[in-house]
Amino acid sequence: MIKGTNFIGSTPSKEGTAQLFANNPANGEAFPESFSVATTSEIDDAVAKATQAFQVYKSIAPAKKADFLEAIADEIMALGDALVARACGESGLPEGRIQGERGRTCNQLKMFANLVREGSWVNATIDTAIPDRAPAPKPDLRKMEVAIGPVAIFGASNFPLAFSTAGGDTASALAAGNPVIVKAHESHLGTNEMVSQAILKAAQKTGMPEGVFSMVNGGIPVGQHLVKHPQIKAVGFTGSFRGGKALFDLANQRDEPIPVYAEMGSINPTFIFPNKLKESPADLGKAVAGSVSMGVGQFCTNPGLLVGIQSPELEAFSSALSQALADTAPSTMLNKGIAESYYANRKALLEEKGVTLSGNATSMGDNRGQGLTATVPASEFLKNTKLHEEIFGPFTLLVVCENGSEMKQVAQSLQGQLTGTLLATESDMIQNTETVDALSQKVGRILFNGMPTGVEVCPAMHHGGPFPASTNGKYTSVGTDAIYRFTRSICYQNWPDQMLPTELKAENPMGVWRKVNGELSK
Ligand code: NAP
Repeated sequence: MIKGTNFIGSTPSKEGTAQLFANNPANGEAFPESFSVATTSEIDDAVAKATQAFQVYKSIAPAKKADFLEAIADEIMALGDALVARACGESGLPEGRIQGERGRTCNQLKMFANLVREGSWVNATIDTAIPDRAPAPKPDLRKMEVAIGPVAIFGASNFPLAFSTAGGDTASALAAGNPVIVKAHESHLGTNEMVSQAILKAAQKTGMPEGVFSMVNGGIPVGQHLVKHPQIKAVGFTGSFRGGKALFDLANQRDEPIPVYAEMGSINPTFIFPNKLKESPADLGKAVAGSVSMGVGQFCTNPGLLVGIQSPELEAFSSALSQALADTAPSTMLNKGIAESYYANRKALLEEKGVTLSGNATSMGDNRGQGLTATVPASEFLKNTKLHEEIFGPFTLLVVCENGSEMKQVAQSLQGQLTGTLLATESDMIQNTETVDALSQKVGRILFNGMPTGVEVCPAMHHGGPFPASTNGKYTSVGTDAIYRFTRSICYQNWPDQMLPTELKAENPMGVWRKVNGELSK
C-alpha cells in the first residue's frame, strides 16, 4: 500500500507539511495519495543511519550482499501487476515496456549479485616483497577496490524502474558495499515508494544493517541538501544537463568535493555514408525512424542528429524517414514538463537559420509526442551551436553535407556524446577514416550498422561519454563496471596475512582472479 512517506532507514516518516502529488500524464489526473517532502532533519537522519550502516555493510560477506541483491529482485517481482500498473500510470509508458524494464531491473540486480559472489571485481593486485632487492628492499604491496560510504542516487524520469529506485545506480552502489539514499523522481512517486518497500523488505529478510537503504521525496532543495551533506561520498544521476551540472558544481564546492556521476544527455550522431545509402535508402530511413520514435524518443541514446552527403539517395532516405515518423502514432510522454519542453525546443530549433521542416510540426497539446525531422545544411550547422543541443523526444535533425570533407568537419565540431553510429559499408569506413576517427574521439560507444537505442547490460558495455554527455567519461552507468563509480582503491603495505581482506590473503580462499607479480592467476 502506498503511504506517501519517506523511508528513513526502515522507518516510514512524514515529518514535514509540504506535499507532492503524482500525475498520470495520459489524462492529467493526480493520483489520490500525497507524498511527504522530506525535511532537512529527515535527510540528516537518513544520512546518519547510512553512515552507521556503512561500518557493517562495507565488509559484510560477499555471499550475504549477493543474497540481499537477489532478494530485492524477488521482492520487486512479488509486487506483481500492481507495480506494472502504477509505473504505467505514472509514466505513460506501455505495459510491455514496463514489464521489460522490470525484467532488466531484476537482471541487473542478479548480475551484480553474481559479480559480488564471484569476487574478482575487486581487482586484487599483489606485488610480493623482495627483501634482498638492491639498493632497497621491495615491500609487499596488495591493492584492491573497496566501498566509499553513503551514496545519493537520483531517480531518472525516463526509466521509472531500471534507472530509478532499484536501478543500475542503486544496484551497483549496494554491490560495492555502500548504503544508498534515493531521491525519488517527482514523475513516479508511487512506483518509487513500492520499490523502496521491496528493497527494505529484502534488507530485513537478509539481515542487512538498519540504514542500508533510505528514500526521500522532494524537489531541488531536497536533492541539494543531500549532495551537500558531508557524509555523502558520491552521487549517481541521470537527467538533464542543467540538473546534472548543477549537482556536479555543488559537489565540487563542498569542503570535501565528491564525485558526481551524471549522465546528462546526448544527440547520438549517426553518420550515413554514401555506399551504404545506395543499398536501400528507404529501408534505412524507416529503420532510423523506428529508433527515433522508440519510447517516444525519450532515451538518452535517441539518434537526434543524422549526417549525410547530399545525393538523390539521401533525399529518398529523408522522405522515407519523414513519412515513417508521420505514420507513427503519437504517444504519451513521461510528464507534462517533458512534453512541453519537447514542443518548445523543437519550435525554437525550427526557427533557426537554414532549418527546413520535413513534415507537420503541429504540437499535440495533450502530452503526446509526435515524431518529426528537419534538415539543415552543414554550413549552417557548423556555425550555430544551438543546433547541437539535445531535443528530448522523437525528433531528429538531418545535417546535409556537400562532401566528405564537410562531413568530417561536422564530426570534429561535435561535443562529447554517449554514442556515435556509422551506417556504412566497410569500404565507406576505409574511404572516411578521418571522419570515423573524429567521431570515435567524441563518444563512449561507437556502432557499426546498428541503432543506438537499446543498451545491452553486460560487462563490455560502456554507457557514458566525454563531457557534456557525462561528468566523467571514464565511467559507465550500465554493465558490471558501473560498480567502479562507487569504489576507491586501497593498498596494504607489509600487512600481516591474517589481517588482510579475504581477497588479498596469500591462500586466496575465495579463489578470485588476481594479478600477482604481473600475472593473472587464481
Ligand atoms: P532533471 O530536470 O535533470 O531532473 C532529474 C532529477 O534531478 C530530479 O529529481 C530533479 O529534481 C533533480 N534536479 C534537477 N535539477 C536539480 C538541481 N539544480 N539541484 C538538485 N536537484 C536537481 O531531468 P528530468 O526531470 O528527468 O527531465 C527533464 C529533462 O532532462 C528532459 O526534458 C530531458 O531534456 C532531460 N533528460 C535527459 C535524459 C537523458 O538520458 N539524456 C534523461 C532524462 C531526462 P525535481 O524532480 O525536483 O525537479
